[in-house]
Amino acid sequence: MRYISTRGRAPAQSFCDILLGGLAPDGGLYLPESYPHVGAAELDAWRSLPYHELAYQILSRFIDDIPSDDLREICRRTYTAEVYCHARAGDDPREITPVHWLDDGSLGLLALSNGPTLAFKDMAMQLLGNLFEYVLERRHDSINILGATSGDTGSAAEYAMRGKHNVRVFMLSPHGRMSAFQRAQMYSLQDPNIFNIAVRGMFDDAQDIVKAVSNDHAFKARHKIGAVNSINWGRVAAQIVYYFKGYFAATRSNDQRVAFAVPSGNFGNICAGHIARMMGLPIERLVLATNENDVLDEFFRTGTYRPRTTAETHATSSPSMDISKASNFERFIFDLVGRDGQVVSELWSGVESGASFDLVGSPYWACIDEYGFASGASSHADRLATIRHCFDTWGVVIDTHTADGLKVALEHRQTGIPMLVLETALPAKFEDTICEALGRVPDRPADLADIESLPQRVEVMDADVGAVRAFIERHCA
Ligand SMILES: *Cc1c(COP(=O)(O)O)cnc(C)c1O
Repeated sequence: MRYISTRGRAPAQSFCDILLGGLAPDGGLYLPESYPHVGAAELDAWRSLPYHELAYQILSRFIDDIPSDDLREICRRTYTAEVYCHARAGDDPREITPVHWLDDGSLGLLALSNGPTLAFKDMAMQLLGNLFEYVLERRHDSINILGATSGDTGSAAEYAMRGKHNVRVFMLSPHGRMSAFQRAQMYSLQDPNIFNIAVRGMFDDAQDIVKAVSNDHAFKARHKIGAVNSINWGRVAAQIVYYFKGYFAATRSNDQRVAFAVPSGNFGNICAGHIARMMGLPIERLVLATNENDVLDEFFRTGTYRPRTTAETHATSSPSMDISKASNFERFIFDLVGRDGQVVSELWSGVESGASFDLVGSPYWACIDEYGFASGASSHADRLATIRHCFDTWGVVIDTHTADGLKVALEHRQTGIPMLVLETALPAKFEDTICEALGRVPDRPADLADIESLPQRVEVMDADVGAVRAFIERHCA
C-alpha cells in the first residue's frame, strides 16, 4: 500500500515513511492510493472479533511495511481494558468501545471516551504512541514532538507518549486558560520525557510559537521536531476501526445499514467514517454536527466552503470543535473531485489565502449525495437543552460535544436505520456546562477523583519564540 498526496505532486510513500511526518512536500495530505475493499466474507469473519484483532485486520490493509506479527502485537498491547479503563458500570471492559443504547436498538451512543484522558482522541493517539516507539526503535531514530493545545489533543498526546523510548513531547498551553481538571491532567505527569510549557497568552499565541519554530527548517531538522496533529494519517486510520465495531454492535447481519452522527471540528473523526464507507461498510448516512463554528455544516448544506478567520471563530462550550477551517476536509474533497490533485491544488491555493470556494454547478457537487453526508449545527442553548433532554428521557449524562452530535442526530433519524452518536468525551471533562444544564456536577471516574491535588510539573514562560526554542535546546541533549 502506497500513499499519495491530495495535491498530486509528491512521490508515493509507504506507511512508515509518512507516519512520523506531517504534510506531504507539495503541501497536501496523504491518503492511500486506493481504498481496500471489504466484502461480505470479511464482514462476517470480523463481526465477532475482539477490538484489538479487528484493529489488526483493518490496519493491516493499510500497513504493509510492518511485519504482521509485530502489527498484531502492537494492536493487542494498545486496545486493552487496562488502557481503556473508564468503562461505565454494566459495560464489558473488553469491548473498548461499547454502545450505550438510548432507544433500544435504534438510537445509541458509541462510547469512544474510555481512554486515559476521557476523550475519543485516545483511540488513535494510544496506537500512535506504540507505532512511533516501534518505528523509531527500528530506525535508530528519535523525535521531539512539539504542539500547542487548548485541552484535549495535548493531553491525549502526552498520555500516549509518556515513557516511550526515543520520544519527547513539548506541549504548549495557554497559562491559566484551561480548566483545573485539564491542567491537572497534563501537568501532573511526572514522566521525564514530557515537558509542559504554559505560555502567558492565549491559545493562538502558543500556536504561533509552534508555527514559528516549525518554520525554522534548520532548527527543526537539528532537533528532529515532529507533530501529532489531526492530519496525521495514522490517527485517521486508527479511527476507521470503531466505525466497524459500532456497525457490528448495531446490526445482526450485513444486509443492514447504520447511520453515524459525528461531532466535528477538523473533520478527522468523520473522515475515518467516510473511508470506512468507501471500503464497503454499509453506512447509510454520515451525519456531521458542528457547533456555532459551522463552516462544515455550511458546506454540506450549500456547497460553499468558507474558512473563517481567527477573529470570526467563536469560543464555545464545546471547545474542541472551535475551528476556523477543517484541516482534514481536503481529504474528502480529493475523493469528491475524482482524486484529481490538480483540482485540489487550485481550490486550496484560494483557501490558503483566505478565499472560499463554491462547488455548486460543478460536476463534483452533482455527485455529493453518493457520499451519504447530512449535516446540522448546534448552539449553546441547543447544547444545554440536549443535555437536559438526554438526562430527563434516558437518565444519561452526556458531554457538550456529544450533545451537539445528538442534537443533529435527532434531526436526521430514518426508520429502520439505527443511529449511533459518537460520544467524543465524558461529561466529567466539561463540568461547568454540565452544571449549567443539570444543576449538578457530573460523575467523575474514581481514579481521577482528586487529580487536582497531585503535584504539578510545568514551566511557565512568556509568549516568546526564543525562550521556547532555548528550552527545547536545553532539554533535548
Ligand atoms: C477533537 C474533538 C472533536 C472534533 O473531532 P475532529 O476529528 O477534529 O472532527 C470533537 N469532540 C471532542 C471531545 C474532541 O476532543
